[in-house]
Amino acid sequence: MLAYPEQKFSFSSRGRNLWIVLLVAKAMKMMFPKFDKVGMPLLGLVATTLFVLEAKRQLRKRSRPKKERLLENGSVAAVALPALRLLLLPTMYAAAKWSEKHQVGLLRRMGLPRWTKHVVGFLLLDYSNYLWHVLLHRSTLLWRFHNVHHIDLDLDLSTAWRFHVGENLASVPYRSAAVALIGVPAPLLLAYEVLFEGCTAFHHSNLRLPYKLERRLCQLMVTPRMHGIHHSIVEKETNSNFSVIFSWWDRLHRTIRLNVPQEAVTIGVPSYRDPAEQTIKHLFLLPFEQLRPWQLPDGTVPEREEGPNKALLLP
Ligand SMILES: [Zn+2]
Repeated sequence: MLAYPEQKFSFSSRGRNLWIVLLVAKAMKMMFPKFDKVGMPLLGLVATTLFVLEAKRQLRKRSRPKKERLLENGSVAAVALPALRLLLLPTMYAAAKWSEKHQVGLLRRMGLPRWTKHVVGFLLLDYSNYLWHVLLHRSTLLWRFHNVHHIDLDLDLSTAWRFHVGENLASVPYRSAAVALIGVPAPLLLAYEVLFEGCTAFHHSNLRLPYKLERRLCQLMVTPRMHGIHHSIVEKETNSNFSVIFSWWDRLHRTIRLNVPQEAVTIGVPSYRDPAEQTIKHLFLLPFEQLRPWQLPDGTVPEREEGPNKALLLP
């Protein structure tokens, strides 16, 4: 395993550290060539495209300078993303391999043909992530961490990776258990994860899609307007639209809410309206502070009258 040529270790200390990380990852079976060499560059391309497009076709007005938010959200992501790649993904992969080795999991019991098995596996994985997102909102403990994502005062591509590292760590046992219970084939898991990240980037983006196109698209998948409502300061709107890739889970559980015009949405959590609180230090410490009630600083609770058809997307 350590049969690398000696001269590789005569690099600068930074180069040496990189080699050590790669060797450890290899030793722990944490390298996923297709994911790392195809999936990651693809995600980079998607993110770059969205970054350019959302600046050109803005959906919601910004309330804060983009640079400040990039720095804050980038710092939160810089700690959280390695936890995803180096812990969550290898653990879920190990769970998939374990279920394969022991021939367990729902999919194996169903006795489905190969392709149907992959389609059903993909859907069940996505459904398990809908349930996880509901749990993040329902559990007070988990909400403390998920709150870091929601108190962002604007919503754009950078919010897609603004997750507290604690939230990502908490997802490891849940998501790995879901993989084993479903009995997801390992290659399908890796493909799902690439799409999961790509769709997360898409629906968090501040990209204004043509309304008619988005109205159709949200019949199938979560779109920027749909997820914008999930980030509203109105509590019942935040507790809607939990789906990640397919929007069907919200339709199934009647948690869908599309009838809020985007210009009427105020992004954030009402008790965290002060931009001065959006410091990197505060974002890391937030889960360990006392939770504030769902109200504006003046004590009022933001509310909105219910429109007639919750499943109809408004512009
Ligand atoms: Zn949420």
